[in-house]
Amino acid sequence: MMNFKKLVVEACKEMIGEELVKGTWGNVSIRELNKIFITPSGYSYEKMTERDISVIDFEGNILEGDRNPSSEWKMHVAIYKAREDVDVILHTHPIYSSIASVAFKTVPSLIEDSAMICGPEIKVAEYADPGSWELANNVAKALEDNGAAILSNHGLVNVGKRFSEVLTGAKVTEKNVQVYIEALKLGGEISYIPEDKLPLLRKNYRENYLQ
Ligand code: 13P
Ligand code: ZN
Repeated sequence: MMNFKKLVVEACKEMIGEELVKGTWGNVSIRELNKIFITPSGYSYEKMTERDISVIDFEGNILEGDRNPSSEWKMHVAIYKAREDVDVILHTHPIYSSIASVAFKTVPSLIEDSAMICGPEIKVAEYADPGSWELANNVAKALEDNGAAILSNHGLVNVGKRFSEVLTGAKVTEKNVQVYIEALKLGGEISYIPEDKLPLLRKNYRENYLQ
C-alpha cells in the first residue's frame, strides 16, 4: 500500500527547496478514493513529518491527524470534485505567478512545455477570501481542463496525477510567466504559439508524453 503521507511530506520538501513558497503558506494534497491527505495549516515545512498530515473527507471532516488541516481544504475538495483526472494538488505563492496575479487576467502559454503541462493559457481566478467556498469555486472554474491556474492577488495552483508532475508544473508555470513578463518588457512583438497548435500540444502531453 502506497504511503500517501510520505509522498505529501516529500513534495513539501521539494516545494520549499524550489522556493515556491515563503514561510508556511501554500498547501499540498493527494486523494485516494474519497479521502484527501493534506498538509496542516500554518505549520513549518521544515519540521513537517508524516504525523502532521491530516486525512479528511470531502466535507472537511478529519478522519486522521491531530493538526488543523489546511485552511484551503475547500479549494482542494472543489478541484477534486470538478476534475476526476486530478489526484494531486499543489498550491504555492511563487514570485512571477504572484506578479501575474495582480497584473493579468490570463497568461498565454508562450513556451512549449507550458502549453503541454498547463494548457493553452493560465487563467487568473477571480479574487475571493482565502479559505472560502467562493475562492474554491473560482479556482475550479479558472482551471477548466488545464494543469494550472493563478489566484488573483494570491498565488498559484497546479494539478495533475502525480507529485513529480505537479512540482514540474509549478516550475514550468513560473518559467512561462517569467518569460511573458520579460518578453513584454522588451517591447517588441511577441511570438505566440499558433492558436491551432495549442490544443494538440496539451492532448499529446496528456495522452502520450508521460510514461
Ligand atoms: P494553510 O497554511 O492553511 O494551508 O494556507 C496557506 C495559504 O496559502 C492560504 O491560501
Ligand atoms: Zn495561498
